[in-house]
Order: sequence, then structure tokens, then C-alpha cells
Amino acid sequence: MLTTVTLIKGDGIGPEITESVKRIFAAAEVPIQWEEENAGQTTLAEVGELIPNSLIESIKRNKVALKGPLTTPVGKGFKSVNVQLRQIFDLYQNVRPCVTTEGVQSKFTDVNLVIFRENTEGLYAGLEYFDERLQIADSISRITWAGSYRIVKASFEYAKKHGCKKVTLVHKANILKNAGMLFLKAGEQISKEFPEIEFDNKIVDNMCMQLVLKPQQFDVIVATNLFGDILSDLCAGLVGGLGLVAGANIGDEVAIFEAVHGTAPDIAGQGKANPTALLRSAVMMLHHMGLKDHARRIDRAIDETLKIREQCTGDLGGNASTQQYTDYVIEKLQN
Ligand code: NAD
Repeated sequence: MLTTVTLIKGDGIGPEITESVKRIFAAAEVPIQWEEENAGQTTLAEVGELIPNSLIESIKRNKVALKGPLTTPVGKGFKSVNVQLRQIFDLYQNVRPCVTTEGVQSKFTDVNLVIFRENTEGLYAGLEYFDERLQIADSISRITWAGSYRIVKASFEYAKKHGCKKVTLVHKANILKNAGMLFLKAGEQISKEFPEIEFDNKIVDNMCMQLVLKPQQFDVIVATNLFGDILSDLCAGLVGGLGLVAGANIGDEVAIFEAVHGTAPDIAGQGKANPTALLRSAVMMLHHMGLKDHARRIDRAIDETLKIREQCTGDLGGNASTQQYTDYVIEKLQN
């Protein structure tokens, strides 16, 4: 029996890297079938909509989606497509593991952490106001107890399930007396339910310094939306770059899997994109769907491929194209 999964090709490098995932999944005989939909700049040009209704219906039906990166046109009147999708399906957990990969050159050799970013509120809540006359712009950071509680709880549950020792909550409660403090209080309360897990908190600026000095001291990190977004790219830099880091947007009913990176317009259409981040996101999706053997097999093939520099794409110092890298992964699957 094949399970249907919604596939959003996305903009920029999206079509190239989703094609890579499709080829590798077919070679690994993963028992899913793709229902292809799209969003973003591509559908705005084609059908005049950033998020077509058919996409919403498809995700509602299938409950699981894999998404390439999307462009939201800059300027008034366009709400971020990514933020909207997360809000429509209440995908409150943004889970991003950052792990050192053998063979990949990076600043550190033993990083193994996971970021839990709150995904529906904070500065991305969409509460934006602009007073044209006075030229005053307001972006309101809304933090709720319920929203804080559920993301912090999810981070502790993950830590418990995966045998992690510590959860570090990142905040700016010294300045953001209300929003920051509420988030921190949720952490302090929930940590009491998990006495076996160490609970720590760090102010975001100090956290940035600690991460670039000694990332090995962190295990699970939980943060509000904007801080989590910024820390995700920082942590991607610690383990070799944006081409590697996977992510999942998880709600109680629906989950959408996507790489941390964006549409990379500087390299789009040139066969230079590294599909690993989306591929690892797709592997996270297989774990979520209970297809663990397929997930492990594909993960191993990626690991084997990345061990040899020439088999990697340019961002990792190799000279393989997206397609050649995909061929190498398929070759490892077949060995
Ligand atoms: P970006 O992540 O697209 O690119 C940053 C840098 O990393 C670029 O030099 C790019 O070439 C490189 N890079 C990113 N992914 C790569 C990959 N797979 N392989 C090799 N190199 C890679 O960030 P940006 O330039 O700030 O944003 C571009 C667009 O992407 C914007 O429109 C933004 O809104 C959008 N965006 C979308 C998402 C998403 O859909 N989830 C996330 C972030 C940004």
C-alpha cells in the first residue's frame, strides 16, 4: 500500500532539490506516492495565488508534506507563505537537528544538538502596523502561555525520548520583561515535570557567543520564533552550512518537512544546489511516518556519499552537480 504525501516543489533551487529526493526515494523503493502541488512565486505567476486552495486541500487530506523553499515577494500585501502555512495548520514545533557529518569540513567535529523553535507566534505572529503619516512601524511580538507551554513541553518530551541530558531555553527576559519572562516561566514550570533532564536558560546574545565558542555543551535548545530562526542558521554554519540542515514543522495533526535554507536565488537553475538538507528533511518525514528502515538506508547512503569530497556539491568543497550527487547516493543505496 502506497501512502500519499504532498510535494511542494517550491521556488529557486526547489525544483532541482525536490527532483533529487524523488529520484532517491524511487531508487530506495519507498512506499509512498507524491501528490504534486505548489505555492509561492511560481504559483503567483501561474495562477495568481501564493497558496492555492488545492494545496491546502491536499495537505489536509494527506497530513504529511515535503516542501521545497518558497519565495514571498517583498513588499506590502504579501504575507509570508511559509508563515501562513505554519499558521493555517498550527505547526507549532519547528524542529531542526544540527549534527556534525563525517567527512564534511566544518569549524567543529562533534556537534549534536537540536533546535525547537516556536513556529506560530512571537515577532512572526503577523501583528504588523504602519502609520503612514507618522512613519512609525510596529511589529508586535505576541507570546502566549499556551504557545510557550506546548513548544517547551515538546522539547522536553523529545529530550526524554532521545536520551538527551539537557534542555537550554533561549530568551531575552532581561529586556523583554513580559514576552521573554512568560516564555522563561513556562520553561521553569515544565522542567519540574522532567527532573531527570537538566534545565538551563541563556540570554540570546550570550547564547550566540557560547554556540560559536563551544557548541558541544548544548543538547536540546528551545527558543521563541525569531531567536530560533536566527540560531538555526548560526547552528547550520557550525556543522558545514545551510546545504545540510534539515527541518520539520510539526503540529498535532499535520507535519510539513523542509530544509532550513531558502530558495538560494544566486545558484538557482545552475545544477549547483546541495539537496542534502531537503533529503535529510525527507528522512525525518519517513521516521515520522514510521518508515524507519527506509529512513536508515537513505541516511546511510547520504553519509557514505558525503565522506568523499569529490562526490559533494560546491558548497561543501566538491565539484559534483546536484544530479551527480544524487547519482552517487543512488549508487550507495544499490551497493
Ligand atoms: P538562502 O538560504 O536561500 O541562501 C543563503 C546562502 O546559502 C546563499 O548563498 C545560497 O546559495 C546558500 N545556500 C542555501 N541553500 C543551499 C543549498 N541547498 N545548496 C547550496 N547552497 C545553498 O537565504 P536568502 O538568500 O536569505 O533567501 C533567499 C529567499 O529564500 C528569500 O526569498 C527568502 O524569503 C526565502 N526563504 C525561504 C525559506 C523557506 O521556504 N523555508 C527559508 C529561508 C528563506
